[in-house]
Amino acid sequence: MIPAVLPVHSDETLPDAVDVVVIGGGIVGTASAYYLAKRGLKVALIEKGSVACEQSSRTWGWCRQQNRDRREMPLSLLSMRLWDGLAGEIGRDLGFRRTGLVYATDDAKMLAGWESWRPIAEEFGVNTRMLGAAEAASLIPQTRRKWLGGLHSVEDGKAEPALASSALAEGARALGATIHQNCAARGLDVTNGRVTGVVTEKGLIRADAVVCAAGAWASRFLRPHEVTFPQAAVRQTALRTRPTANVGEVLYSPDFAMTRRLDGSYTCAISGRAVLELTPQGIRFGRQFMPQFIQRLKAVQMSIGKSFVTGPESLGATLTNDNTVFEKTRVLDPEPLARQVQQIVANVRGTFPELADVQIEQAWGAYVDCTPDSVPVISALDRLGGVFLAAGCSGHGFGVGPGIGHLITEMVAGDTPSIDPTPFRLSRLLDGSKVEVGPI
Ligand SMILES: Cc1cc2nc3c(=O)[nH]c(=O)nc-3n(C[C@H](O)[C@H](O)[C@H](O)COP(=O)(O)OP(=O)(O)OC[C@H]3O[C@@H](n4cnc5c(N)ncnc54)[C@H](O)[C@@H]3O)c2cc1C
Repeated sequence: MIPAVLPVHSDETLPDAVDVVVIGGGIVGTASAYYLAKRGLKVALIEKGSVACEQSSRTWGWCRQQNRDRREMPLSLLSMRLWDGLAGEIGRDLGFRRTGLVYATDDAKMLAGWESWRPIAEEFGVNTRMLGAAEAASLIPQTRRKWLGGLHSVEDGKAEPALASSALAEGARALGATIHQNCAARGLDVTNGRVTGVVTEKGLIRADAVVCAAGAWASRFLRPHEVTFPQAAVRQTALRTRPTANVGEVLYSPDFAMTRRLDGSYTCAISGRAVLELTPQGIRFGRQFMPQFIQRLKAVQMSIGKSFVTGPESLGATLTNDNTVFEKTRVLDPEPLARQVQQIVANVRGTFPELADVQIEQAWGAYVDCTPDSVPVISALDRLGGVFLAAGCSGHGFGVGPGIGHLITEMVAGDTPSIDPTPFRLSRLLDGSKVEVGPI
C-alpha cells in the first residue's frame, strides 16, 4: 500500500533526445532532475511507478546532521542549506521545518553512544546538546516516563514525504524537464563504452548522460551492463496514525520513533528494527555485507520472504537479464510486519496518556537499499561513460536527497563540486578498501 503522495501528472510525449535522463522518481531522482534543469540542462525523469512510490514516501522524513557518519557530514550540511531554500525557489511547500529533533533514552549505553558523537558535532559546527534527566523530561512534558537523559539536535528537522519529491518533480518541470511515470527504464543504449540513450518500455530516449537513481533496483539495473554495485535491501515497517493530540514534533526513543506530519498525524516506527530477507542477490554480495551484518545482528532478523521470487533481488532478476523485470513490479510494496505494528502502537500508547486511544490510519512495509558501509554511492561509472550512480542511501537518504541531487548535477555538468565526492565513489566498495560501517 503506497502511503499518500501528492500526485504528479505525467508528460504525454517521450522526448526523442535530452541532455540527461534521470532514472527513478524518489527524492534522489527528483532532486537530481530539479538541479540538472536549474543548471540549464534538458532533462527527462522516468519512473516505473509513480513519483515517490517506494522508499521516499515510506520514510519518517527526518532531515538530520545528528549522529551521521563523518564522511556524510559535508553532504548533510549542504542538504540542510538547500532544504532551507527549496520552498522559496520552487514556490511549493515541501513540509521542511527545522523543528529540532529530541532523542530520549533510559539506556546508559545509548546515551554514551550519542555523547561519543560530540567531536563530530564540534568539528562541523552542529548545534546539539546532551540532556540530563530533568531536561529530557521538560522537553517531553506529555509523558511521565522517566528518561535517563537524551539529546536535542536543535537545528535539524523534517520534511513531508507526501510533498517533497512531488514538489521537486514539479520544480524540475517548471524549469523545462519532462516527467514520465509508469515508464520503466529497461536498459542503456551504449556505443563504444559511452551511453547514448535509455531504452524505456515506451521507447528510446537519446541522451548524453544518465543518472541512475533507481533506489533498491540500481544494482539490478546496472548488472547487465557489467557494472557491479554491492547493494542489499532490508525490510522495514512503519505506520501512520490518524490526526491526534500534539505531543511533540519529532521524538526518538529506544522503543519507538515518531514524527508529526503536517495534518497532525504521526509517522511511527522502531528505529533500526529490520528484517534481512535471504535473496539470490543478497547471497551474491554476502561477503561484502558480512561486517555490517555482524554489527547489526541484534536489531536485524533473518528470514526468507517474497523478495526471493519477486523484485530486484529475486532469483529471476539475478539469474536472467530480462529487461522487463522493472515494470513487472511497478511498486516494491512489502507487507508491514503485523507484530511490529502492534508493538509500535503499544509503545506509543504506553508512553503518552494523551495517545492512549490513538488509531492507525495506515501501516506499510518498505525495502531500504543499503551499501556495505552504509554510505551512499554518488559516483561516475568507470566502465560506462556518461552514467552516474546515486543510490545506496542506507536508510538515511531522504534528508540528504537535495545534496545528492546537487552534487550529481555538478558531476554531470563537469562543474567544480561544492563538496568532496571522494567518500561516495563506487570504487571504494570494489577495490579492496577497508569497509568501515557507518551508523544507519
Ligand atoms: C521506514 C523508513 C524510514 C526512513 N526514515 C528516514 C528518515 O527519517 N530520514 C532519512 O533521511 N531517510 C529515511 N529513510 C530512508 C529514505 O527514505 C531513503 O534513503 C530515500 O528515500 C531513498 O531515496 P531514493 O530516491 O534513492 O530511492 P526511492 O525513493 O526508492 O526511489 C527510487 C525510485 O526508482 C524507481 N525505479 C527503480 N528502477 C527503475 C527503472 N528501471 N525505471 C524507472 N524507475 C525505476 C522506483 O520505482 C522508485 O520510485 C527511511 C526509509 C524507510 C523505509
